[in-house]
Amino acid sequence: MNDLTKIYQTLFKYFGPQGWWPLLDCEGKNPTKTGAMQGYHPSNFKLPTSNLQRFEICIGAILTQNTSWVQVEKALQNLKKLNALSPEAISTISENKLKEAIKPAGYFNQKAKKLKLFADFFISLKGKVPTREQLLSVWGVGPETADSILLYAFHQPYFVIDAYTKRIFSRYGLFTADHILPISYHELQNLFHNDLSRTTGDRTAVLNTSDMTTHKIIRKDSTVVPKKIQRVFWARKCFAFSWLDHARNAVRSSKPIMIQHDRHFDMPKDYKVFNEYHALIVELAKRNCTKQKPKCESCPLNESCKKLI
Ligand code: SF4
Repeated sequence: MNDLTKIYQTLFKYFGPQGWWPLLDCEGKNPTKTGAMQGYHPSNFKLPTSNLQRFEICIGAILTQNTSWVQVEKALQNLKKLNALSPEAISTISENKLKEAIKPAGYFNQKAKKLKLFADFFISLKGKVPTREQLLSVWGVGPETADSILLYAFHQPYFVIDAYTKRIFSRYGLFTADHILPISYHELQNLFHNDLSRTTGDRTAVLNTSDMTTHKIIRKDSTVVPKKIQRVFWARKCFAFSWLDHARNAVRSSKPIMIQHDRHFDMPKDYKVFNEYHALIVELAKRNCTKQKPKCESCPLNESCKKLI
């Protein structure tokens, strides 16, 4: 069994099912969550079941860029009060009204424009599942947002890589300080796709899987590089990557019809694992692997983590 599978199992056993993506109409409240967030639906992978719920997830994925879900929830509630949680309503609502409603989520000028463009795109789909390339061609939709939409709104098996994923797995020592080349969004995503690529059946099967492939990335022997140097190196690399991702998004945004080369291979068969795994990563990042002063002593990964902090 590879590291990523073991980590998944450990986190799942510790935190339990997370019930992502939250939907306003769901009353379920995940007891492991911090804050007053609602709308979770643990072990119910059928949701979303309607186009309106799918659209709610899509705009949530856009609104959550650079802000917390608590703030997004407020913005979604405002839109709901205005009866503007449909693509048609977002498309036709006045820009000022839209900006006012989504203010809690921050960057409201940009996000209002993004939502309007996305609403038109959603309408043009006519109920079809978008491709990743189509999503990336919409202004304001980068790889993380596109993958969140594909995974949570359309049940497509794309692993979502976010800042939490990078932070946890770099500290864990799975791919970072001793890794020769900078690891891009897609390289990291492929790591998850390949390691979980033989996943089949339901979540229980995944928890018992023992025949998954192990994807090795090239590493240097970490023991020859002093830990302090590794940390400095990794901090600089993180900055460089985030800048590179930002630059790529900016280029993509300025070329609305740019098609991204799809480098995926061996796609996994079960989106449920990806759904749960990403949510578990977020939970761990909020509870233990925080940006400052991580709580390693109570972390479920404490024993195996290299703690490259
Ligand atoms: S043991 Fe510490 S560094 Fe490692 S994942 Fe847990 S909180 Fe993060």
